[in-house]
Amino acid sequence: MSEEKLVAVQVADIGNQLPKHVSPSQLSSFDRCSLAYWFSSVAGWREPSGLPQIIGTLVHDVLENFLKIKAENRTKEVAWNLLRDTGEVVIEHNKSWLKEEDLITLKDKSAESLKGYFDLEDPTQLKIDLEDLERPVTAIFESVKLYGRLDRMTREGVVRITDYKTSKRPAPQYLTDSLRQVMLYAAGLKENGLDVGEVELIYLPGRDRVRRPTYKSALDRAVQHLVTTRRKMDSSLEKETWMANPGNACKSCAFIKACPAKTPKTPMPGTAESESLLATLNVEKRVRSNASNPNAGMEMLPFEVPEL
Ligand code: SF4
Repeated sequence: MSEEKLVAVQVADIGNQLPKHVSPSQLSSFDRCSLAYWFSSVAGWREPSGLPQIIGTLVHDVLENFLKIKAENRTKEVAWNLLRDTGEVVIEHNKSWLKEEDLITLKDKSAESLKGYFDLEDPTQLKIDLEDLERPVTAIFESVKLYGRLDRMTREGVVRITDYKTSKRPAPQYLTDSLRQVMLYAAGLKENGLDVGEVELIYLPGRDRVRRPTYKSALDRAVQHLVTTRRKMDSSLEKETWMANPGNACKSCAFIKACPAKTPKTPMPGTAESESLLATLNVEKRVRSNASNPNAGMEMLPFEVPEL
């Protein structure tokens, strides 16, 4: 967070508590803007998934199910069929708001990620236990409870945690957050007696791979970040004051109209007025509606994926 831009925003006490567990994605959300974190993780207003999240979930689901298949049967054709079948379900779930251009983006980006996957590794050579796909990780550090799920872990030669990304590889200064997330998982597994030797980020569309050994100071830093961030959350809750971080994150923030740092004269978050305003923003619903033409863009169905 850029300190000079932060704006302290007072919220009303609505009796909400912090989530019992902290996940790596919650830490990132808090770091990005702690007021947005308050709206979503404390006050309980859920932002609907946007197109990038939907594409990410689709590709993760496809890869998870693909790697459950016997190694010798992990062909491109099987992966393509999985993408098409899962993609059709995703489109059906979201057809009330997906526009024609969204469908093109969804189709192109998910196919590009899958093509990138095949360029990066030969899945018929990958040995993986089913329990190491979407494996839950729980641990307690200084009374802070960590909970999250790994994309995958492999144990051939070195125990390696892998996290898939459906975005391009970011500039080096932005890699820190992603690496810290996987280091935190490695620290959590170490607490459970399993030593992870390496962490890996795979940026699928750019065919980019980042690997780092799990050295002690990196694990310690990740744990320290978990603990200090949770302490900051506790303090914000107690003081009923959360730091807004006006900037790039606002462009895609569902709470902007209820955010005092961005919208002047908006009611104090947590008051009945603010809650009523949020209700009009419809942020709790994940499925959005397109009242004028609910079938707009659906002529693209069925979901077709370009040849891999
Ligand atoms: S609009 Fe910007 S400052 Fe306000 S909550 Fe959202 S991300 Fe934070």
